[in-house]
Amino acid sequence: MAIRAWSLLVLLLGVSVQAQPLPRENPVPGGIVILPVAPDTEPVPVVHYDNQRVLVVSHAGKWQAVVGLPLSLAPGLQAIQVNDREQRQHEFSFTVRAKDYAEQHLTIKDKGMVEPSAKDLARIAREQEVIRRVFGAWTDLPLKSLQFSLPAHGRISSTFGLRRFFNNEPRQPHSGIDIAGPTGTPVTAPLAGTVMETGEYFFNGKTIFIDHGQGLVSMFNHLSRILIKRGAHVETGEKIGEIGMTGRVTGPHLHWTVSLNNSRVDPALFLPETIQNIE
Ligand code: ZN
Repeated sequence: MAIRAWSLLVLLLGVSVQAQPLPRENPVPGGIVILPVAPDTEPVPVVHYDNQRVLVVSHAGKWQAVVGLPLSLAPGLQAIQVNDREQRQHEFSFTVRAKDYAEQHLTIKDKGMVEPSAKDLARIAREQEVIRRVFGAWTDLPLKSLQFSLPAHGRISSTFGLRRFFNNEPRQPHSGIDIAGPTGTPVTAPLAGTVMETGEYFFNGKTIFIDHGQGLVSMFNHLSRILIKRGAHVETGEKIGEIGMTGRVTGPHLHWTVSLNNSRVDPALFLPETIQNIE
């Protein structure tokens, strides 16, 4: 009897049970804010934040704007712009809280990786242009899911947002998570998407970019092998490469960056709770 009652409840709640889980909200620099902007019976609204298109999904009867917040953002009041079907613009404001990320000190023996030569600096500038273009891209694809699976088995050796010092010199904060594992460990797509770009970069080593749609992009760095080509479609869990130590590294690991509306955000917010806590 209890089982039948439970089945009936599942049946009645069927729609909400099957609704795709949203990422975890964390309104801090490097986090995500989720704002219901319209009933999902209306056409999907066009949302912008800081002149970037924003990902919008249907959840709990509403169109929800899923907004990435840059690590460099100052705490305080922010707003998104929402255009409805009549092209009227509405503003939705939200508050960004402060977050103190921990410091991480690393020793890099290769001096050329800490103080690159003029020639290397020119190469780095060219590469950063490509990376900027890729993260700023927009494809109008509906997303089937917003829940990632971990792209490699291994220990989370470095979390997101750490304030980094290389040989005691302050550098850019850590814009992804690191998963340590032996060279050759498979790297898989955490979510379906299209391979936007592959290449070998000065700091990032062998790299793959996957466009999951609507400004949600994954970047995988320091690979030993790249097993897919630009333009290929990949499914969740499909092998795309192998862990390595190309670029600026202290040991073999996968660096995984997630970008949302051109803001690098904490990938752990897209992972199921149980996986997030493996550290
Ligand atoms: Zn990293």
